[in-house]
Amino acid sequence: MKVVVTGGAGFIGSRLAEKLQESHEVTVLDNLSSGTEENISEDMEMVEADIKHDNLEEAFQDADAVFHFAANPKVNTFPENRQKDFDENLKGTKNVLEACEEAGVEELVFASSSVVYGEETEIPTPEDANLDPISMYGATKAGGEHMCQVYQQIFDINLTVVRLANIVGGRNRKGVIYDFIHKLQENPERLEILGNGKQRKSYLHIEDTVDGILAAWRSDKTVFNVGSRDSIDVDGIADVIADEMGLNPVYEYTGGEKGWDGDVPEMRLEIEKLVSTGWEPRHNSKESVRKTTRELLEGRQ
Ligand code: NAD
Repeated sequence: MKVVVTGGAGFIGSRLAEKLQESHEVTVLDNLSSGTEENISEDMEMVEADIKHDNLEEAFQDADAVFHFAANPKVNTFPENRQKDFDENLKGTKNVLEACEEAGVEELVFASSSVVYGEETEIPTPEDANLDPISMYGATKAGGEHMCQVYQQIFDINLTVVRLANIVGGRNRKGVIYDFIHKLQENPERLEILGNGKQRKSYLHIEDTVDGILAAWRSDKTVFNVGSRDSIDVDGIADVIADEMGLNPVYEYTGGEKGWDGDVPEMRLEIEKLVSTGWEPRHNSKESVRKTTRELLEGRQ
């Protein structure tokens, strides 16, 4: 098959593109705003384009499937970045959908997020829980899913939605693990922790994530949670990182049960639907955090 990965120069998109290239012809489409060319292998076709305003039809011509992973992925910049969330995630997704329709693309995989559920009380959260986002990022991901579903119904595009938990790995240059390592490299004596350290979430290593996304795509085209079975709190993450760095820092908390506006105190997804396809995460949350910490410290991707 011929496939296009939007956001394919970024953390998740580039690892996905690498795996897809083992059995498909892959084109990466990216504006290199947070992704880099170093993330793409030399023999992979790369189209530099912006999903917000460029005409994507030519890049999608002859494509059998589009994996739509380009977005403003920063979850902790609300309310400052709400315009960027809107532009990249909603306007960009509408443009991607129009190009899919014009180019006759048959299959679409949309990268959604656990944040579409908001402050869910049912833990682990199943796919049929209400979408009740509490941040602009979450709202634009939920809106993106709905737009994709409209195109699925009206234009017969086969749609797979993957709602990703917190995805970690050595190529990820954002998020709590990367931040903690850098804070500790600057000051090994103390570590500032946003919130009270008790926020508890599910973390999944990128290797399991890519396999999970492909398992979802190959099975019935529907909505899948992708995460680990368990969760780890922020204090636990700090402990793993301090241990790997051989440090014993004092933790200083900014306070409150959320790290930022739009954060949730707890997130863990019900993953049995994806497990029923034959996929199984090989690493739990703590193992995913430890593996990522080592990869980042050793500069491995
Ligand atoms: P990333 O920033 O590493 O990758 C995003 C890529 O999209 C980058 O290469 C960037 O250059 C590109 N991009 C951004 N705006 C663009 C535009 N207007 N036109 C073309 N390219 C553009 O982020 P990531 O962590 O790899 O996230 C990938 C996808 O997965 C995003 O849709 C994100 O919302 C979703 N997601 C990520 C996580 C996570 O934990 N990392 C969790 C849930 C969902």
